[in-house]
Amino acid sequence: MKVGIAMMSHETNTFSPVVTDLQRFSAGRDEPRSGPEVVEVYRGTASCLGGYIQVAEARGADILMGIAAGAPPSGPVENDCYEYMCNAIVELAGHVDALLLDLHGAMATKTYEDGEGELLRRIRASYPDLPIAVSLDMHANVTSLMLDNCSVLTGYHTYPHIDMDETSVRAAEIFFDMLDGKVAPVMHWDHAPMLPHVMRQGTDDHPNKALQERARQLEEGECLAVSLFTGFPHADIYDAGLSVVTITDGNADTARGYSDELLDQAWADREHFVYEVEPPEQSMQRAQQAAEAPGDGPVIILDHYDNTASGGTMDTTEVLAAVLDAGLEDVAVFGFYDPDVVQEMIAAGVGNEVTVELGGKLPMPALQEQSKPLTITGEVKLLSNGRFKARVAMARGLTMSMGPSAVLSVGSVDIAIISRHIEPYDPECFRCLGMEPTQRKYLMLKSRIHYRVGFKDLAKEIVECAGRGVCTSDYSEVEFKNVRRPIYPLDGDLKGSNVTRAEFEQRG
Ligand SMILES: [Zn+2]
Repeated sequence: MKVGIAMMSHETNTFSPVVTDLQRFSAGRDEPRSGPEVVEVYRGTASCLGGYIQVAEARGADILMGIAAGAPPSGPVENDCYEYMCNAIVELAGHVDALLLDLHGAMATKTYEDGEGELLRRIRASYPDLPIAVSLDMHANVTSLMLDNCSVLTGYHTYPHIDMDETSVRAAEIFFDMLDGKVAPVMHWDHAPMLPHVMRQGTDDHPNKALQERARQLEEGECLAVSLFTGFPHADIYDAGLSVVTITDGNADTARGYSDELLDQAWADREHFVYEVEPPEQSMQRAQQAAEAPGDGPVIILDHYDNTASGGTMDTTEVLAAVLDAGLEDVAVFGFYDPDVVQEMIAAGVGNEVTVELGGKLPMPALQEQSKPLTITGEVKLLSNGRFKARVAMARGLTMSMGPSAVLSVGSVDIAIISRHIEPYDPECFRCLGMEPTQRKYLMLKSRIHYRVGFKDLAKEIVECAGRGVCTSDYSEVEFKNVRRPIYPLDGDLKGSNVTRAEFEQRG
């Protein structure tokens, strides 16, 4: 049997001004990687493609590798880029007996709200009977269009996402069993009228910890797969929010029953999915107190309004300005996306002093208040090609490339400045720039939850600090125009209310 494998992965922040073109999906090349070299690059890595390759090879299938197109989160995907990726995958579908797809599930394009659903619709329009397995991110905003046009669909159980390969293995095992006639998967999908806050979605915390544990428990019992998607609120589309996909062996009623159970549980815990923003002055004070208290390890200051892995520009300056104003010492900052400043520093050379206008360069029309460049004078401490091998469970084994990179030292504050967006979740991103994160008093990270995979255990204290950016943690700073209403917590204060999700939806 010949199986096609391909990836088209993007989390779209519809408020983000960062352009999403084919170059962004191509990791520094002209086009995304495709063909046999993808198998060599991804085999054995902690990625969805790694999981698919593992199962397909174990099952003795012939692999026809398509494109591996993945871009860091950013604004809506450009139309020509989307058409390129869709055409490549539809073309692949015409040459295989079955298809294994690594998609994200929260892709919006300049034309389509649901990029993945439209791709699957097109494949099935050309090849109505083609078996298709899909693995999605936990932040997927799942739609009926996706479910109607695939055979098996699974999602991550962890955030930080350290089970990407397990997720695609789960999809592929069910899928091959189906092709062998051993199981007859029946899928049920439904959503709850709620937008869980990303800062409250981590699976170390209640309520998502308990929800994902229940999903796994059901997978060991009557269900083939149970995926609870917390959704991605900054993709302002009709179907954004929390949903559940349950797969059983031929029993639609059972699938619906367990799906309802999880949706009810999530709805009952809805207040725990709401995030309260602390005034930044207070956060900065807490960080300083924590640094003076006994104990080892750095205090992490989390600049969570500008997380590139949620579509942030990675160049807003408010939190760094507060760090410098407060006179904090021994700080390592990761990082700023500012290719122009990197070039200025390369021109100046290591050891020399430069004055730069750092960050605040990408206009953010979705926000009323813009970030401004920060004028900083410092020393060019280090220049680098910005490449490192991921060592933590997320993406382990893959080579990450930040593009030309530099470290700017302002007193004892060292700032990483890079030319390609990447969220700091692996301490190697500091080490490849000559900084040892465990030895610093403070780390300032532009991240929301993924930093936990590599930094949580080494931190003395974590202080979430409000700044500015298009992944703002204050929903009132952006205008939701497309998500279905009513939706919690945008509509109505339900504190202490025992309204059911159905009753809430009927309020209209
Ligand atoms: Zn995600």
